[in-house]
Amino acid sequence: MFSIDARKIYHPEMFNREPRVSVDSGKFVTLGEQKKAGRHLRALEYDLVPGFIDLQINGAFGYDFTSQPDSIWQVAERLPEFGITTCLPTIITSPLEVMENALQVWRNNKPTGYQGTYLPGLHLEGPFLNPKKKGVHAAGLFHLADPRLVQEWTPQNGVRMVTIAPEIPGAINLIISLSQRGILMSAGHSLADVHQARAGFGAGIRYATHLFNAMTPIHHREPGLVMAILEHEEISYGMILDGLHVAPELVRMVWHYQGNRRLILVTDASAALGMPAGTYPLGNNEIQVDGISARLADGTLAGSILSPLKALQNLQSFTKCSFHEALACLTANPARVLGMRDRGVIRPGAVADFVLLSADQQVAATFVAGELVYQAPWANLQWD
Ligand code: ZN
Repeated sequence: MFSIDARKIYHPEMFNREPRVSVDSGKFVTLGEQKKAGRHLRALEYDLVPGFIDLQINGAFGYDFTSQPDSIWQVAERLPEFGITTCLPTIITSPLEVMENALQVWRNNKPTGYQGTYLPGLHLEGPFLNPKKKGVHAAGLFHLADPRLVQEWTPQNGVRMVTIAPEIPGAINLIISLSQRGILMSAGHSLADVHQARAGFGAGIRYATHLFNAMTPIHHREPGLVMAILEHEEISYGMILDGLHVAPELVRMVWHYQGNRRLILVTDASAALGMPAGTYPLGNNEIQVDGISARLADGTLAGSILSPLKALQNLQSFTKCSFHEALACLTANPARVLGMRDRGVIRPGAVADFVLLSADQQVAATFVAGELVYQAPWANLQWD
């Protein structure tokens, strides 16, 4: 058991209470109580926030999960440097045996002594996508939605989330079947009109992959997938807020429409996250990274180099929302769509996944299930 005193704690009830939490057996036990028990951490220079949850991340530190699935655990052990405490490593469209290989790496489980980000499973972005909205995916590897191809796809086998175009032949039955197994189904890389989109939502889709990107733009007579998503109260949507994937004006429009209720910040980060400018893999592609963006040789945006904190800062700067409002989009909201009610929040009984942030919003330390898994070299943490 240990307790922590922070500068502030980002929990709605904490603003009027002592900024102290206690942790035992990997969970938060008390909030704002005076008594100390066990070890004590003085972190008065830092704000304590829930750990970040990323539903779409393709790699980092030079490794691409799709082409180098053996790197998944190794990369995840370093993601706490970005404050990420839970994520879904994302595998883009590949031959099915390659996707299965990545699932096997997840099933092999974390290596002995692993101290890193919690991985509840993988996000399979494809192969049931619309070739006309392929983005960087290899359209030649897309499949019609054939249930025989997904017989083994379950959360237990590592499939936690699937992006699918609801309008392709067979998609509706596949969405029904996979969502009933407990997989988060997401609409994306799609030309669906509002009717096809709503049919997909009715079948079990609860999320949309990178809103605006790789979907039909809004037209005043053809509102399409984007408006169907925004209008439907049960659909959350991911956005890549690097300022390039979606213009700040559109981010403001979405914010005015819905605020933070259903918005989720994803990084869609590539192997280049945490690395200098250069050339990196993304699936079968090579991407050029210049310190701002990651693109194919023809200029197509191909993932990002966005960190969660940069996304959080961009959301505040684009919409003028508060830090507290933006934070839900990286913590409680993604936890909710994954059905993980004990993560993404700071409350007694929740898993003690949290980040200590400096006044200039740098990650000073990251804890996963109550364990210190990352401490910045400059962080001043005093245990007694
Ligand atoms: Zn995509």
